[in-house]
Amino acid sequence: MATHFLPKLFLWAGCAVSLCAQFPQTNNHEIELGSLPKRWPTGGPKCMEMPEWHIHEYNPNLYILRQSGCTDYEKPFVFLIFGKQSALLLDTGSHHGNLAPTLLQTVKKWLNRNQRESIPLSVVHSHSHWDHVDGDDAIEALRDPAMPVTMVKATPEANAKFFKIEHWPIDIGSVDLGDRIVDAIPLPGHDVAAIALYDRKTAILFTGDSVNAGRIFFDDFDAFVKSNRRMIEFTSGKPVTYLLGELDILPLAGFDSSCPAMAQGPTRLARGQAFAAYVKAKYNAQHQVVVVPLCGHNARCMFTSEVALPILFPKV
Ligand SMILES: [Zn+2]
Repeated sequence: MATHFLPKLFLWAGCAVSLCAQFPQTNNHEIELGSLPKRWPTGGPKCMEMPEWHIHEYNPNLYILRQSGCTDYEKPFVFLIFGKQSALLLDTGSHHGNLAPTLLQTVKKWLNRNQRESIPLSVVHSHSHWDHVDGDDAIEALRDPAMPVTMVKATPEANAKFFKIEHWPIDIGSVDLGDRIVDAIPLPGHDVAAIALYDRKTAILFTGDSVNAGRIFFDDFDAFVKSNRRMIEFTSGKPVTYLLGELDILPLAGFDSSCPAMAQGPTRLARGQAFAAYVKAKYNAQHQVVVVPLCGHNARCMFTSEVALPILFPKV
């Protein structure tokens, strides 16, 4: 459970910074690029006209499905990733989501396009909260030969077994979907079974609720801190770009002015710079920091700026 007002895949650890994202810095022909919609339909006021799930084709082998706000206020995202041998679904949606028919339809379209009759699907979860697992039973009940389902329950034990994580939560695991390796980083804290997935093909880090532009709550704060360190360590050698607003210096939009937060810097810009300096000094991360001129705490200004666009949408 969490507030979702930006797609999670945009977000990365340490979001005291204005905007931070994991994007490929260049197309080095190893990373498969994709696109995101200009805006996500969220729900209403004409709910009868809205599909239960909005399907977005990020690229031909990665789909983002978003539950309509007409069926549940959480409006969760789920992610469908295709490899050569199998497919992976991350999360199954919230109450009244009814993901199963949309999922089956999407997989069948992919099969049709790829002239295949079937593909096995493994279902995993970012964590065990109800708005991420509620579609499990209906998907398990599908029994369609075009899409045999393996359900990996949202527990540390099931995650460790499926991703071959020897020592949960210390080790990193992975699964090979066929010429497509997806890494799993154990991330207990927000929930005991939380994981992040890193898709090597697209260089996208899927963090579930554990990195969130809204409020995050913890079952176990100590575990959450360790999990974030693990994720920072994992991503330190990978391409990450932080966009920091040059004018993000005003205490607007719920600015945290507690003593621990002020110790990280007096403004969001300063905190972002401090965070980037920390991961560089501590983990030797080669991340790119871009200060976006004339932008404050404003996503539209940041994402549409001249310096940000070539980073977000590098030329293929
Ligand atoms: Zn949650």
